[in-house]
Amino acid sequence: MKTIIKKVDQTFIDENIIKEAGDIIKAGGLVAFPTETVYGLGADALNTKAAKKIYEAKGRPSDNPLIVHIAKLEDLETIAKDIPKTAYLLAEKFWPGPLTMILNKTNNVPLGTTGGLETVAIRMPSNKIATQLINASGGFIAAPSANTSGRPSPTLAAHVEEDLKGTIDMIIDGGMVDIGVESSIIDLTVTPPMVLRPGAITKTMMEAVIGEVSEDVTLMKDDDKHRPKAPGMKYRHYAPKAELILVEGEMETVIKNINVLSKEAVKEGKKVGIIATGESRDRYEVGEVKSIGTRAKEETIAHHLYQILREFDDDKVDIIYSEAFETKGIGKAIMNRLLKAAGHHILKV
Ligand code: AMP
Ligand code: MG
Repeated sequence: MKTIIKKVDQTFIDENIIKEAGDIIKAGGLVAFPTETVYGLGADALNTKAAKKIYEAKGRPSDNPLIVHIAKLEDLETIAKDIPKTAYLLAEKFWPGPLTMILNKTNNVPLGTTGGLETVAIRMPSNKIATQLINASGGFIAAPSANTSGRPSPTLAAHVEEDLKGTIDMIIDGGMVDIGVESSIIDLTVTPPMVLRPGAITKTMMEAVIGEVSEDVTLMKDDDKHRPKAPGMKYRHYAPKAELILVEGEMETVIKNINVLSKEAVKEGKKVGIIATGESRDRYEVGEVKSIGTRAKEETIAHHLYQILREFDDDKVDIIYSEAFETKGIGKAIMNRLLKAAGHHILKV
């Protein structure tokens, strides 16, 4: 299949391109597009066959449900029922934005979109290309991240090309995404509501709006007694090709330990990658050192996380040592993704 690739400027959106993409989705095709979190791979959410194509293109397990993206609040009621007041309170505060809500689905949503579940995940993105595309496609786009299953999520159109060129109809290149990690997911079908995936909208931010919120116990620890409540969180996800080891502790001790470990690995003939920060990058003595961002502004770390993991894939390193991060604010989403990428391999020093 020939994949159409079109650049779109977010500040001056070419309506013809949006219409072309919308027509593809309406006809049951696949279009990758930018959102504020990561690039999504979109299909008509209300068309089972179209949704099925997403699973095929990504190699995604069929029990891993898709998020339905909407552009207007009134469309919520077409796809969700028994909607609690808390959903409207959260929508008012955080939509459009990086928050996904789990609600009971209506019959309009096929089980092919929800991985066989009677609940549906819904988000209203803020990226203007995304919202215009949703409107041009009939209002409901099912979209997981636009990577092949298991690879780091795409934050640039080039990442989508790497994974999916030739297997999908179109890629809209809207430049680098803003946030860089996937949306926060909250399940509103349980009491108290439960965070199933941390993102830019934190539990504390949600609690300020709707009161007590709980958290899936599997988010930050490897626990074989519990299954993650979001089916997608059980897969080894976000993974680079190399072995990834997180090193946690006081900054000075971490730097010292990573230097010792890297030198040993280099001696064994391994190609080493190091995930450092702006504050520490000059302190490493061997290996391919990349700064992921600055600790003074953790958003910069989220922004570069997946790009760096992909760069290390291209560099063909054998082993990556990464500094660990605080789990406050967006740091929780960063550490959740890093822990999964590392298969929970963490060294406390
Ligand atoms: P992605 O689109 O790649 O960010 O993946 C979507 C995430 O949302 C996966 O982790 C899914 O398991 C999760 N998800 C989607 N729908 C539901 C649902 N109805 N209940 C629980 N988790 C869901
Ligand atoms: Mg994904």
